[in-house]
Amino acid sequence: MIETSNLSKRYGPIAAVDGISFKVEPGQVLGFLGPNGAGKSTTMKMIAGFVTPTSGTAKVCGHDVETQPLEAKRALGYLPEGAPSYGEMTVARFLDFVADLRGLAGDGRKQRIGFVVEHLSLAGVMQQTIETLSKGYRRRVGFAAALLHDPMLLVLDEPTDGLDPNQRHAVRDLIKKLGEERGLIISTHSLEEVEAVCTRAIVIDQGRIVADKTPQALIDEHGSLERAFTALTRGEERA
Ligand code: ATP
Repeated sequence: MIETSNLSKRYGPIAAVDGISFKVEPGQVLGFLGPNGAGKSTTMKMIAGFVTPTSGTAKVCGHDVETQPLEAKRALGYLPEGAPSYGEMTVARFLDFVADLRGLAGDGRKQRIGFVVEHLSLAGVMQQTIETLSKGYRRRVGFAAALLHDPMLLVLDEPTDGLDPNQRHAVRDLIKKLGEERGLIISTHSLEEVEAVCTRAIVIDQGRIVADKTPQALIDEHGSLERAFTALTRGEERA
């Protein structure tokens, strides 16, 4: 699904991401954990082809994101931080627009739009413009757009950020279900979420991987995920 090798990104003196290597197989939900500024979003942006690595490579379903960007992007759905979108479009128009971009047509197109509308509970807001939606609904529209073409790899940057408890529960169930056959990478600050949905956790600190284990192995070693997080990270946030 995904293979990164020594992936690195420098911003001037800051090593935002510093030599990250990992693989994700189908059937894995990988959680990125780490303090603010650890490099989680930057790693995801490089995998999604939104940021060019300073060095190292990322391959999505065997396609290098730099040299085969179209093939890599076809296989991938990406929910960026904050789910930027086209505020003046209605949800229905936006999903149609994304379906056009993804080349979806006929019954398959209808079925995929129906699937994301149902699973992200968007039926009641289809005719509303995105700029008038609450933060939680905007995230769900972003998730729907990432999922529309049924990609084999999903990269979701804080997918449940801003959702109410019911929706958080529904989105976590959806992530678990999607993760049965696909590869998923999520970033989260919720350790409860890691325990609930992730089959594997990578802890990132100051741009480097400091642990790559199942959540249960982290709990067994440290007593709890909170303790693991405190022990493994230096507790230093970066801007
Ligand atoms: P958070 O949990 O707060 O979302 P994160 O782990 O996702 O944090 P990143 O957003 O990847 O962290 O940032 C990693 C580091 O890279 C930070 O020090 C950040 O300030 C820096 N950084 C990210 N993007 C840029 C940029 N475009 N220009 C300069 N520095 C950047």
